[in-house]
Amino acid sequence: MFANIIVDITHEKLDKIFQYRVPSHMEGELSIGMEVLVPFGKGNRMTKGYVVDFTENCDYDLSKVKEIAEISRKGMAIEGKLVALAAWMKENYGGTMIQALKTVLPIKQKEQAKVKKKVRLLLNEEEGKTKLDFYLHKNQKARARLLAALLDEPVLDYELINKKLNITLNVVRALEEQGVLSIESEQVYRNPIQNRKQQEKDICYTVEQKNAIECFWGDYQRQQYGTYLIHGVTGSGKTEVYMEMIARVAAKGRQAIVLIPEIALTFQTVMRFYRRFGDRVSIMNSRLSAGERYDQMMRAKAGEIDVMIGPRSALFTPFPNLGLIVIDEEHENTYKSEQIPRYHTRETAIARAKLEQASVILGSATPSVEAMYRAKHGEYKLLELHNRSGNQEMAKVHVVDLREELREGNRSILSRKLQQMIADRLQKKEQIMLFLNRRGYAGFISCRECGFVVKCPHCDVSLSYHRNGKMVCHYCGYEQERVQICPECGSRHIGEFKAGTQQIEEVVKKHFPEARVLRMDLDTTRSKDGHEKILAAFANEEADILVGTQMIVKGHDFPNVTLVGILAADMSLYSNDYRAGERTFQLLTQAAGRAGRGAKKGEALIQTYSPKHYAIVTAAAQDYEAFYEEEIHYRELMGYPPVDNLLAILVSCEKEALLETGCKYLKEFAVRIRGAEEVAIIGPASPGIGKINDVYRKVLYLKTEKYDTLIKMKNKLEQYIEVNPGFNPMRIQFDFNPMHIS
Ligand code: ADP
Ligand code: ZN
Ligand code: ZN
Repeated sequence: MFANIIVDITHEKLDKIFQYRVPSHMEGELSIGMEVLVPFGKGNRMTKGYVVDFTENCDYDLSKVKEIAEISRKGMAIEGKLVALAAWMKENYGGTMIQALKTVLPIKQKEQAKVKKKVRLLLNEEEGKTKLDFYLHKNQKARARLLAALLDEPVLDYELINKKLNITLNVVRALEEQGVLSIESEQVYRNPIQNRKQQEKDICYTVEQKNAIECFWGDYQRQQYGTYLIHGVTGSGKTEVYMEMIARVAAKGRQAIVLIPEIALTFQTVMRFYRRFGDRVSIMNSRLSAGERYDQMMRAKAGEIDVMIGPRSALFTPFPNLGLIVIDEEHENTYKSEQIPRYHTRETAIARAKLEQASVILGSATPSVEAMYRAKHGEYKLLELHNRSGNQEMAKVHVVDLREELREGNRSILSRKLQQMIADRLQKKEQIMLFLNRRGYAGFISCRECGFVVKCPHCDVSLSYHRNGKMVCHYCGYEQERVQICPECGSRHIGEFKAGTQQIEEVVKKHFPEARVLRMDLDTTRSKDGHEKILAAFANEEADILVGTQMIVKGHDFPNVTLVGILAADMSLYSNDYRAGERTFQLLTQAAGRAGRGAKKGEALIQTYSPKHYAIVTAAAQDYEAFYEEEIHYRELMGYPPVDNLLAILVSCEKEALLETGCKYLKEFAVRIRGAEEVAIIGPASPGIGKINDVYRKVLYLKTEKYDTLIKMKNKLEQYIEVNPGFNPMRIQFDFNPMHIS
């Protein structure tokens, strides 16, 4: 038997895997992720490595293959567990081991100079002056120059020191070693609290909160680690529950990772964690440079922090004794990676927790259908928080039928009822949020008079309008001519649905010239912190109305917002996708949850062309259970995830004819290896964008109940692709249970 081993991951570039022979006495003892010592390089120096895979055959000259020298007895190292996780990801999501390792392991960056470092003087004035005399006496000019500068100004940018004082990093390091100064990397959220824990406000947990905490903690103390789904409306105190759980886990000497989608990772949220955990908390976000990220990872590894907060990639923080992973807003799409390996954070977190003997907490006001399905089938424990902690009432939700507005002659994007309510709030000096649901907007064709949407006769997803004038199903490839007259009511007002935030801002200003309006969308938030600035301005009541896309749904609490208007609820409903109902329900519920967070009661208004659609009816009633029942029934009927599992095979190639042939062979091969298993093979279909930069794209779907069957078929397909050079000009990616049908 042979083992594939990566050598010395922390120092070498991750570009090669080496094969070693497994001595017979190690067989059965060795497993993936274990640390071993192997002879490496010309001098056969004993070098640390990690086992990433086993093979029966060797690709090299057998006489030259060396043997593993020994298994390190330290047990599985931190990196070893991450290597094992990478192996799991490769198996479950496809791609190469190197791609998985690059996702999982902290990689040292070469361009360290880019890191923004600060240098801080640690000595008082007297000590400093004595030391300065010493350096001058010894004729250590660079050291003296640096110390003199710090005596003038105790905190300096490293860049400044380097460029202006002509002092190298070596000199700075030397002074650091002597305890003269400390080198700090600049952190975005750290300064305000200056490493001090603030007085925590005394919290008396509600009965529901207590139950959730004790259920988790009882299991934890019995070392029954598992996955929990906290379903709690916005404002029900989920974050307080997470923090208490983390505090208890940390008190046992174990660490926690808190994943929050970047858009919800606002200053407010982060500060709550700092208040509770002080400088034992670290934040990872996309504004950090690669070097800073690496530094954060190393601080975690060294045991300097207990809690890492960040988006998806923070899941791979190398904590020495990870005890808990929290995934807030568990239903968010950003938890699915769109790069190879296309992993889902929820599943990967659970896999990591198993390796670490840790627990996972999933939290959401609108849990994903997958998570609720697993909870109902006993895979996760369900913890419910039904009430808002301050006993604020949920907003009252109204539904306005836009078809009726049209019939009554109102062609404005603002219904009459919404206009009335806006006027009322402006007069009371309360605030308003207007929300344009743009997610999933994909050029579907709908009737402005009756709300009819043209769907695929085979798939129950809406057809997309392509520039070639055809209407296309992105799921099965079905095509038809664009309709000119509504097949349902005969109206000519059938066409692409279009409306933008800018357009809405103009309409609002026309109707309410006295109102102060802020707009938040991709255009207005492009600048650094643009997102945060607009939210802060609105929180300071510098505007009466905030118009925005789904970006405004998350983050800040606005106590003075008493009205939320959802302008076109349908826009995500008819995107060409089986998750459209779920996404719409989530967006509407979260948007409505923004109203009435303060002392005043809130109201929300949903404008729609399809007031009878279950996603809209149940969102208006704020009834998650009713929504889930309808949705899971639909998924069962159609065989969509989570009931069945779906594997998308995305194939792209510069030559259209080659692509066609490749897909044909892949499909034939899939049919062959399917054997007696019940696997539906669908496509190849054209994805939403059939060509990008002159590269053509097609997609094949495999659908079956058993996830394992899909993994086996993926492995065989990968081998088939590898040994057939015909596929070389093609790029082939696997995507398990894709978030949308692309
Ligand atoms: P969620 O994360 O579910 O939206 P939060 O944890 O943010 O809810 O709680 C909403 C607000 O209520 C926060 O300001 C929080 O400090 C407060 N809160 C939560 N639980 C309690 C409690 N038991 N007593 C008092 N205030 C609470
Ligand atoms: Zn119609
Ligand atoms: Zn179809």
